[in-house]
Amino acid sequence: MTKFEELGLQDSLLRAIQDMGFETPSEVQEKAIPLLLTEDVDVVALAQTGTGKTAAFGFPLIQKIDANSRTTQGLILSPTRELCLQITNELKNYSKYENINVVAIYGGASITDQAKQVKKGAQIVVATPGRMQDMINRRLVDISKIEYCILDEADEMLNMGFYEDITAILSHTPDEKNTWLFSATMPREVTAIAKKFMHSPKEITVGSRNSGTDTVSHEYYTVGGRDRYLALKRLSDANPDIFSVVFCRTKRDTQAVAEKLIEDGYNAAAIHGDLSQNQRDLVMKSFRSRQIQMLVATDVAARGIDVDDITHVINYQLPDEVETYTHRSGRTGRAGKSGVSIVIVTKSEMRKIKAIERKIQQKFEQKTIPSGMEICQ
Ligand code: ADP
Ligand code: MG
Repeated sequence: MTKFEELGLQDSLLRAIQDMGFETPSEVQEKAIPLLLTEDVDVVALAQTGTGKTAAFGFPLIQKIDANSRTTQGLILSPTRELCLQITNELKNYSKYENINVVAIYGGASITDQAKQVKKGAQIVVATPGRMQDMINRRLVDISKIEYCILDEADEMLNMGFYEDITAILSHTPDEKNTWLFSATMPREVTAIAKKFMHSPKEITVGSRNSGTDTVSHEYYTVGGRDRYLALKRLSDANPDIFSVVFCRTKRDTQAVAEKLIEDGYNAAAIHGDLSQNQRDLVMKSFRSRQIQMLVATDVAARGIDVDDITHVINYQLPDEVETYTHRSGRTGRAGKSGVSIVIVTKSEMRKIKAIERKIQQKFEQKTIPSGMEICQ
């Protein structure tokens, strides 16, 4: 087995890695780190969620940054505020024995404060595309000298409609930089970005290309239209240790399903765009600490939720896009653990199941809802 010591990392990083308790590099780290450290290349790295992509680009980036210069040299774009903060924290951990400033730039917080931090000299900026674009327009950040641009969770960023922001941001960066694109899947939009902005990128693939769901098994339960909610309760009753994200299509359904679950005595909560950032933070905190076992979510609110050990993803309602299904199911089965993605469908929706099967190249198992009797046993 390869060790971190064999990848060409400097001592300060090896010490930080030891402090974090990482013993051996994950596959994507083993492939990406030596390449990014030694070659001036553009790279597209595909690996499913939970495989350690942050360190795969973070370690080489920290090593490449010139700590003696205050210029902004690295830019990381990431889809959500949560991920931005998470990456920033990780990079701070990685660089604890270095003098490197990492600043997070995201919406929903004071732009003036963020601009001040950047002005002090941020060698690395971790940003959401929307706020980054805003800061560029107001000339609060200068990315004309960056040497490394990382597009993290590229598929999610594009899914969220950031194509134009990303394009605009990249047009402010120098042509000679290296671009490292990390993604769980490679949908058409990601290929388009790679074609447009990258110079003959080298590709690193971990697991199978396109599918982000290898350790996830897929099941469906057929119900009558009125029994959706009952099925959800039964699934929860049958799995007392369930720790799940339940996906609904609209904010309204999300709120309604969560309220019903709470009324019926389940540990549930809703997360969607009508909640304030504060409320969302609270919900996420209770979820992480397992006080909430069923987090009912819209697709947008669930993006960037990075919680390990989710046992079940439940599609209370199916999304329109197969790609969205892939993102949903990718919330479970992380870090090599197994997970189940469950779809509650009516007979008329069976076509959608077939379409998903074709796309993910995995078969669903048909299951029947456990009856109350079975659960009481
Ligand atoms: P991804 O971006 O691929 O979804 P992350 O970078 O968020 O994955 O990593 C997932 C989790 O695995 C994090 O909690 C991270 O600290 C941990 N991790 C990453 N690399 C290693 C490693 N080599 N050994 C142990 N844990 C690791
Ligand atoms: Mg990641």
